[in-house]
Amino acid sequence: TLSEIQLATNNFDETLVIGSGGFGNVYKCDVSKIGCGSEVAVKRLRTMSKQGAHEFEAEVKVLSKLRHANLVSLVGYCIEGQEMALVYEFMPNGTLKDHLRKADCALSWSQRLKICIGAARGLHYLHTGTSTQHGVIHRDVKTSNILLDAKFAAKISDFGLAKVGPIDQTRTYVITNVKGTFGYFDPCYFYTGKLNRKSDVYAFGVVLFEVLSGKQAVDSTLDEEPQGLAPWAQRQIKEGKLDQIIDPKLMGQISRKCLKKFVKIACHCLRDKQKERPTMDEVIFRLECILSKER
Ligand code: ADP
Repeated sequence: TLSEIQLATNNFDETLVIGSGGFGNVYKCDVSKIGCGSEVAVKRLRTMSKQGAHEFEAEVKVLSKLRHANLVSLVGYCIEGQEMALVYEFMPNGTLKDHLRKADCALSWSQRLKICIGAARGLHYLHTGTSTQHGVIHRDVKTSNILLDAKFAAKISDFGLAKVGPIDQTRTYVITNVKGTFGYFDPCYFYTGKLNRKSDVYAFGVVLFEVLSGKQAVDSTLDEEPQGLAPWAQRQIKEGKLDQIIDPKLMGQISRKCLKKFVKIACHCLRDKQKERPTMDEVIFRLECILSKER
């Protein structure tokens, strides 16, 4: 279970900042003394009200019960006055997004498929929950929230603050503060505020395109209305020029048959109607079939 961790403020040296996100900076800290590995990533949150702190604590307790090989584990939290921080296991290979963008990205097709399967398993676990707890909707699935461990296994991050649950397996929730990243938004959720697990499935479809193409497949700067996939991707799918979508670094690694199957899964995830999108369970099954054929 989760422990409240005392972190001295000198742990938050500006030189240790490894990233910054919507909630504040992320620091790399050495915590060998507290026995959860020698390094952790600490997400320091902006100050909150007292009520906010109570909600934060309650939420962290729920989330601390979620344990899965493909979720970045939350190992602790600290609250000191109005200062709050979440302590996660440290992921030495950073984000999937950063890897895909590198000019010398060495992730092979089978490694990329395994990353997709891993991330899909993490999401499936979040969605279906455990025997003692209902599922959670992530709400911000994207390649920068998929982190890679020392062996390049995928773990979903940022699920801590994104949940709306506990959620019912089948119910749809109407959310007033639509949250997420433009471009990855389920259009149905955007227009109606109706959120269910299929909104994560939509964003996962975008992730699949980015893993295949090595580049951003949506425009995340537009904040007017969801545009779906970027025009280049839409055009290439429509014209059946699927091999033009492939990251040039993957040339010669993907068979035509598997390429077609992979694009089909991604397009299925991106269907307009939530009901028509597959469950993460189905996505895992279909990706595993592709992996077994590419071996
Ligand atoms: P965002 O709000 O953009 O999703 P986060 O606040 O979750 O970003 O994280 C910001 C950055 O910090 C990430 O892009 C990543 O580079 C780094 N980071 C976050 N969590 C970890 C971790 N557990 N291990 C290593 N790096 C991390």
